[in-house]
Parts: sequence; C-alpha cells; structure tokens
Amino acid sequence: MINTQFRQQFPYFKQNGNWTYLDSAATTLKPQILIDETCQFYQSAGSVHRSQYDLSQTQAYEKARDLVAKRFNVVTREAVIWTSGTTHAINIIANGLDEQIQTDDEIIITVAEHHANFVPWQQLAERKHAKLVVLPLNENYQLEPTALQNALSERTKIVALNLVSNVTGVRQPVEALIPIIRQYTEAKVILDIAQAVCSEQVDVQKLDADFYAFSAHKMYGPTGVGVLMGKSQSLAQIKPLIFGGKMLQNVTEQQLTLAELPYRLEAGTPNIAGIIGFGKVLEWLETWDFQQLNQGLYHLATQMRKRLESYPNIQILGNAISPTMSFTFSNQHHADLATILAEQKIALRSGEHCAKPYLRYLSKTGTLRLSLAHYNISDDLNQFFNALDTTLAILQD
Ligand code: PMP
Repeated sequence: MINTQFRQQFPYFKQNGNWTYLDSAATTLKPQILIDETCQFYQSAGSVHRSQYDLSQTQAYEKARDLVAKRFNVVTREAVIWTSGTTHAINIIANGLDEQIQTDDEIIITVAEHHANFVPWQQLAERKHAKLVVLPLNENYQLEPTALQNALSERTKIVALNLVSNVTGVRQPVEALIPIIRQYTEAKVILDIAQAVCSEQVDVQKLDADFYAFSAHKMYGPTGVGVLMGKSQSLAQIKPLIFGGKMLQNVTEQQLTLAELPYRLEAGTPNIAGIIGFGKVLEWLETWDFQQLNQGLYHLATQMRKRLESYPNIQILGNAISPTMSFTFSNQHHADLATILAEQKIALRSGEHCAKPYLRYLSKTGTLRLSLAHYNISDDLNQFFNALDTTLAILQD
C-alpha cells in the first residue's frame, strides 16, 4: 500500500508509536526530508540575496518559488510571494486593497470562514466605513450560487471564500461561484485554500481567483512559511503591509521607490530554512503518485464516515466524504470526550476551530474534529473507534 510506504517517511510514527494522530487539519506531520534539509541549512551560513557567498542558499530559495509556481500552475514565478502563513497572506491582501475600498462598499465572505479569513475583512470594513456582508450556507454547508448572485452589486469590491472548511471539510463549489462574481462585478476574489492543499492539486488558473493563500504546514511543510499567490496584475495593485530591507529599488530621505514583484511584498529576512525545506518537500511530493495517495485517503475517509454514522446520538456536520469531519454527540460534551480520548493517546481537535461565528451559526459550542492525511491507515481508525467506545462507556457510568 502506497500510504503505508508514505507513512514510513514520517519519524513521528517511530517516536510516538503509542499515539494516534488524527489532527492533520491543524497541522500535518513532517517528513524526514524536511527535517534533514532544515538541519543542513542551519549548519551552513548566510542569508539570501544579500552577499556574493550566499549563492547556493539563494538558488535553493528561488527554486522553492519555482516549485510552488509549478505545483499550483501560477502563470509567473513573480506571482508567488512568501509569507509566514495563510493569516499573514490574507492580512497582506486586506491591508493592500485598503485604498481601493470606499465608504459603503461591500466585502462579501461566508459565515464559514476561519478567523484568518474573517477578521482582516471585518477590520478593513470598519476602517473604511464599508459593509461586511456575511452570507449563510445551504443545508449542504455550501454557499448557494443564487444566494451569492443576489448579494452581488456594483458596491461589491471583495469576495473572500474558503475552498474547504476547516470545521466541516466541505468544499465550496467555487467553479460555479467565481464565474458569477466575474459576470456581475469587478470585485477582487480571494480564496483561502489552506485546507485544500493537502488533498487537492489546486490549479490557480482554472479557478480564476485574484489571490490565493495557504500555509506550508498544512501540506507536510514547516510552520512559519506560507504563500500568497495569484494574478500578477492583482498582486501589483496591492501596497505592502511591511516595509524594510529588500522590498525597494531606492530610498532617499524624501522618497521610496518599491521593488518589483515578488520582492516588494517580502520585506525583511525571510524564513530561509523553512522555505528551502518546503521546496524540498514539494520536490519530494512530485515523486509520489498523488492520485494513488488520494485513493487511499478517500477510502479511509469513507470508512471513517460509515463508522461514525453507526453511533446513536451523533450528528456529523455535512454529508461530504472528506478527510476532515466534525461531529457532536447530543448527550455528551465535546471537551469531556476529547479529554478522555487524549488520555488514551488519541490526538484530535475539539472546540470552535478558530471559527466562532460559524459555530454560533451552527448553534454549537464546539465539535470534535477528525482529520486525516495520506499517512493515516485503517489501524489509526481502529485505535480511534476503540478509544471512543471506551470513552462513551466511561461517560455513561
Ligand atoms: N484558513 C483555514 C481554512 C485554516 O484551516 C487555517 C489553519 N487552521 C488558517 C486559515 C490559518 O492558517 P495559519 O494559522 O497557518 O496562518
């Protein structure tokens, strides 16, 4: 099985053999190749794009940018900007579009956004006396194309959506939604693809958004590295959030001339070790048959759903077969369950998942969330369901 071979690349399983990791939506485990590459960088010296002697680091750093452009089918490498994560990337956009927003303009999001794709827009709306329009979802936890169409107007300047929800694992039908936005408005379209990148090869040209944001740590990469990417024309319109070294062509006491993309949006020393390591991870991912890895993943997700459905008093949020699923038990508190599960060495997430408005909308104080990645195997599910049975028995006593 390819997923078992893939699992062997992750030292976590050797070092934490008695734990069952089912929290990959929070962050995926790290392959040995990332750890080795990062260590190697820290044993060398120098920065990137600063000196004559740091050429090999600079080459590896820029190669990682090429690898991102290739994987996501970005038109030009200059339209790939390094950030510290999805949150940082979305803040760059929300700050950068500031001058294009006027009083009474509208910014549309859904109620299902992670705080990272909610709060920056709320703050932008507040700053510019614009209106934040928060759209509800249909019974399938998706944004209905007609609901979006009805909300659009000539006042709509921004539409920011998640591709896959970190709470439910449900994918939004962006292939239907984005053409509607394009037909009726000139709005900038932002996609938060943080939860999609692990199990989908997102094609930025096909989806046709202006901006995309994701974090490397959601796809076997390091923490502290993220990407903002999209259309060069759209990126060129945003003003920098951070000013400093390497983002300018010239500066005098009176005047600043900004550098071209991507550097104008990358002030300061980047996370070189992380970025070079992420490049290595992308190169390594190319050596695996992604379709086959996904087959194993979705087979496991189907099993997970079937087995969850067999429990009385359970409510699973949404009816999608997805590597990420949230659920609640009507007669048990999620935190009690998570605590007793953790005592049995089950790593899963419970709570509000950085999506307070969404949880409130769903009338939930919290959920339990299971999330799989390509290294999970049926034994992980067996461990989980055994532990769940024990937990429910303890709580019923
Ligand atoms: N959006 C979504 C959908 C997420 O799942 C996450 C991470 N949980 C984020 C944004 C924020 O990512 P980061 O904390 O890496 O910036």
